Amino acid sequence: MSDSKGTVPLMINGKRTDGREVEDLRNLRIEVGIIPEADGSAYVEWGGNKIVCGVYGPRECIPRHDASPYHSIVKCRYMMSPFASLEEHSRSGPSRRSTELSKVIREVFENVVIAEKFPNTQIDIYIDVLQADGGTRTASITAATVALANAGIPMKDMVASVAVGKAGDTLVLDLNKAEDNFGQSDMPMAMSQKDKKLLLLQMDGLLTKEEVIEMVGMAERGCEKVNAIQTSALKRFYEKGEDETVKW
Ligand code: ADP
Repeated sequence: MSDSKGTVPLMINGKRTDGREVEDLRNLRIEVGIIPEADGSAYVEWGGNKIVCGVYGPRECIPRHDASPYHSIVKCRYMMSPFASLEEHSRSGPSRRSTELSKVIREVFENVVIAEKFPNTQIDIYIDVLQADGGTRTASITAATVALANAGIPMKDMVASVAVGKAGDTLVLDLNKAEDNFGQSDMPMAMSQKDKKLLLLQMDGLLTKEEVIEMVGMAERGCEKVNAIQTSALKRFYEKGEDETVKW
């Protein structure tokens, strides 16, 4: 996963392979309420990522022995479709990767959902990646926050997420697939937007302490831009009214 040997040029004349500056986000579009049957839903197109998220609950916890009399159980199932990218997946069932991503995404929301309000219930977050282009976990967290808000589930804070990394010896925001797969390092992060708590931080590759500090700042600025798009998608949905928005 390294371009340090120069096999995959990721910075050309100071620009990235897709023409972006180091701190530019890819195009991000969010639609709310795209699954009328769900309690809350969102669709996110971010660069080449296409992700659908449906939220159900709070509803009866099944199996019942999973239930807690003190709080709701947050469950998350992330799945990448077998046609999501050029690489052959060979099967569409769960994998080590989807198990890991489901876990880290669930842990993000366990920290923000006010679960004590709904004892003996569960809240299900279903995420399906229809097309993958690098950064599907951050795009999924961004979608799930909006879907949870659309479901009316009380949260302490909104969560925005973006990856920062090092590609072509340069620190870059919102890695595309080539930067993610062939760059020197990537660090997906999720942050709550009011109190700026770090809810996800994973790291792949090697970075210095100074680089990590700079990247956290880049992610914070990136998350603010992502959050502005989340907020305006929700506003648009509630201003238009639910009947109109399902026709997108
Ligand atoms: P993320 O999608 O959060 O960046 P990874 O770092 O695991 O997660 O993957 C980077 C990118 O590599 C994905 O977004 C996707 O485009 C591609 N990829 C990863 N795993 C697979 C897979 N099993 N099949 C197809 N593409 C994959």
